[in-house]
Amino acid sequence: MPVLLNPGTAPSPAMTIDGIPVISPQTLPVINPATGQEMARAPDCTYEHVDAAVLAARRAFPAWRALSTAERSAMLRTAAIILSEHVEALAVLLTSEQGKPLADARSEILGAAFWLKSFAKLELPIHVDEDHAGRRWETRHIPVGVVGAISPWNFPVLLSFFKIAPALAAGNTVVMKPSPYTPLTMLRIGALLGDVLPPGVLNMICGGDQAGPWLTAHPDIDKVSFTGSTPTGKLVLQSAASNLKRVTLELGGNDAAIVLPDVNVAAVAKDLFWAAFRNSGQICVAAKRIYVHADIYDELAAELQVCAAAVVIGEGTDTNAVLGPVQNRMQYKRVLDLIHDCRQNGMRFLTGGEPEPGPGYFISPTIVDNPPEDSRVVREEAFGPLLPLLKYTDIDDAIARANDSEFGLAASIWSGDVEAAVALAPRLEVGTVWINEIQLLSPFHAFAGHKQSGFGVENGLHGMLEYTLPQTITKPGKVER
Ligand code: NAD
Repeated sequence: MPVLLNPGTAPSPAMTIDGIPVISPQTLPVINPATGQEMARAPDCTYEHVDAAVLAARRAFPAWRALSTAERSAMLRTAAIILSEHVEALAVLLTSEQGKPLADARSEILGAAFWLKSFAKLELPIHVDEDHAGRRWETRHIPVGVVGAISPWNFPVLLSFFKIAPALAAGNTVVMKPSPYTPLTMLRIGALLGDVLPPGVLNMICGGDQAGPWLTAHPDIDKVSFTGSTPTGKLVLQSAASNLKRVTLELGGNDAAIVLPDVNVAAVAKDLFWAAFRNSGQICVAAKRIYVHADIYDELAAELQVCAAAVVIGEGTDTNAVLGPVQNRMQYKRVLDLIHDCRQNGMRFLTGGEPEPGPGYFISPTIVDNPPEDSRVVREEAFGPLLPLLKYTDIDDAIARANDSEFGLAASIWSGDVEAAVALAPRLEVGTVWINEIQLLSPFHAFAGHKQSGFGVENGLHGMLEYTLPQTITKPGKVER
């Protein structure tokens, strides 16, 4: 049974602004996607709330940046412990609002804790460019200031901590705005971490369509870190131009997986299935187009059908369920519209092709059999349990088709010859190429979308440096430190 918060009696969860719980006179419904029913109401902030959060972050910034790295790191480690201690309750809340199976929700919360612990270990480098009797010339990295962070609904917690952890570790303060579709777990986390972090260091706000633009346009925000769709990312970039805010954008993708003819088909089929359908396909780096060599196409298609038949779909709180619903009605309709387009155009489904009965937003894993390259299901990011399986005979053609996209987030190559696969990787116009694996992201390694999939870097030292500005210091003679 899902844990439903009764909208009639449950108090609206509060935002955390300047360390204080803040509610709004207006509220937004939060829908449990497994039932289609309202499970709670969340604050719908006013401009005054956004302004108060930004000003609180501004006031907190000088003292937070003045702490030593060790002092900030200690607090981030404590924050990680708090998340771990509350993992069960947070996971239940996350499953109820996002739809994912409880085990995945637990991993997501623990992932956020891992990101906090990991960035607590990363040190900002000092580059000594010149150091001799005549002159010392060095470049340091100082915090940008107040960060406005905006996250989507597919991994509401982990993707928020991709921002919060490096931003705070580098000495910035943050105003975080999760998606209005999935605000509850982050609001709860905002309250929990209010006991660990000084007031104003991490502010958690929540609002409808205007909240994001208010934040990105606010003159006292120094940097915007945004994860979401490419069209929204373009609006964010325009809005941030008003005072030349620094910007990091992690945007949409239409990732290709290329399967070479020398793979062990039975062995890779399961990996490829989950590459496409984990989190019901709602992963920016899901395999969204799988190009399979013609020699093994039929065998792989049959293996994928076996995988699909074994899947249990259901409410995330059902321990048997391995796939939950699509997260929201708009996305559900979008995936069904793409499926309808396939049917209208005479394409064949290897599996699925229908919504599941019931009130929630369930769609069974749907695989389209070798659709035309120019069809919508190939060209567009479905961001749901819908996969085009495509046939190729010539690897140059497969690579050209993989690259023929405005997106450039990531890709994967599957082969029995790892070195041959590695040699193909530089030909793919994407930020990350996985060989015989997929979706490996780490706080210690850079993740950067190319083309219209992103702007800047998230994760790793490169990602942390995006929350800093270079400062060059020169001094005649040797500088003792
Ligand atoms: P979205 O762009 O609709 O919304 C993302 C966030 O932006 C939400 O918090 C939303 O409230 C806010 N927002 C909406 N309009 C805004 C505006 N004008 N200014 C500022 N903020 C605004 O995206 P979504 O539907 O929540 O997420 C799905 C998309 O996110 C997919 O395209 C997916 O590929 C992408 N995504 C990318 C990554 C990545 O790391 N590259 C990760 C996850 C998801």
